[in-house]
Amino acid sequence: MIIRARTVVTMDGAPIDNGAVAVSENRIVDVGKFDEVKTRNAGEIVDLGEQALLPGLINAHCHLDYTCLRGKIPPQKTFTDWIRAINAEKAKLSPKDYLASINEGFAEVRRFGTTTIANLTAFPDLVRQITSPIRTWWFAELIDVRAPERANEIVDLVRRRTDSLRRAIESLKCAQNWGLAPHALFTASKNLYERCQEIAGRANVLLTTHLAESSEEMEMFHNGSGPLYEFLKGIGRPMNDCGNETPLERFLDLVGRGGSLNRPRANEVDRPYLSWIIAHLNELAGSDFELLEKSKIKFHVVHSPRSHDYFKHSQFPFERLHSLGFNICLGTDSLASNESLSLFAEMRAFQKEFPGVSPEQVLQMATVNPAMALHQENVIGRIRPGFYADLVAVQCSERDNPFEQIVGFDGLIDWIMVNGKL
Ligand SMILES: [Zn+2]
Repeated sequence: MIIRARTVVTMDGAPIDNGAVAVSENRIVDVGKFDEVKTRNAGEIVDLGEQALLPGLINAHCHLDYTCLRGKIPPQKTFTDWIRAINAEKAKLSPKDYLASINEGFAEVRRFGTTTIANLTAFPDLVRQITSPIRTWWFAELIDVRAPERANEIVDLVRRRTDSLRRAIESLKCAQNWGLAPHALFTASKNLYERCQEIAGRANVLLTTHLAESSEEMEMFHNGSGPLYEFLKGIGRPMNDCGNETPLERFLDLVGRGGSLNRPRANEVDRPYLSWIIAHLNELAGSDFELLEKSKIKFHVVHSPRSHDYFKHSQFPFERLHSLGFNICLGTDSLASNESLSLFAEMRAFQKEFPGVSPEQVLQMATVNPAMALHQENVIGRIRPGFYADLVAVQCSERDNPFEQIVGFDGLIDWIMVNGKL
């Protein structure tokens, strides 16, 4: 098949006016000017007209479990109140509800032009019942905060099982791509982080976690006080890891800062962190930046602009993290703190927050960058021969810069191809 469009935005060099992409089975086999692609390839020609053809978008952080919570939780006074509110909502849901919620979420992300997703699920045992319509990385979200008496206030029965990690891995093995997600420093123990990192190293899978999201998390770990501290102490979490370090320092300690920092070779220093995709990093102290600079540690960072707005977190330190060389990606997070699963809306929100960043760079954060975070930069995120045929089209006139029009696109996608299939 040859797909022609007014412009082909490859993310691999300048956009190609009157361009075309040739697809065979599930791969891109050629890309260039329409006339040239037509001479080099045979097959049906699909003319998309006045549209830009671009790589399918990649959502680097989402929880489709909570698609059914859209509009259910108004912004709360504190992050801790939001945790209470989402726990109350979750208590009303059955596995059947979660299954429907995940399927509904998949349909929605696809309607918004997302062809790959990094999705965290608290219910890995549901994965075998789901046929995902897009390329999916399933991360088992793991929590082992000890809550002896009022356990159901923060964890449900499935997550509380002591063997939840083993069970999660068994369940996820049916998925093509999987990884592990110890939830956050305040809900997952040192032991759980260490086990996840060890298993991920052995199985060669990715890791993700929530880190330094709220000021309450900073207050809890750094000062040993605040609403989150009190809430978790109240449900029986051992709090002896609080009152000393920032969340970032704590995280680096857990995943091996000491050993890495003492090693001189850059590639070895970086290695343990390359498999981590870190959601948030909103709250960093001055000392955290010094630490990042000195240690040359790099990991992948996901920013969710609209969820960030909902919580009114401190400004995301985009410029500083970017200048330190972090790979920054966009994600929608869940509908418990967002209103839709559109990455176009995230790009628009990011552009509004950071008007100095070029629209091309913003689009990279939803294509090329998350492909790198998923270690798939040689097969997705660009339009290049040999890459998977994951493509979307959006309206694009001749007048303006195509990147501006793509980032400004506000609607549903009516042409999408995933793995060579329409
Ligand atoms: Zn999240």
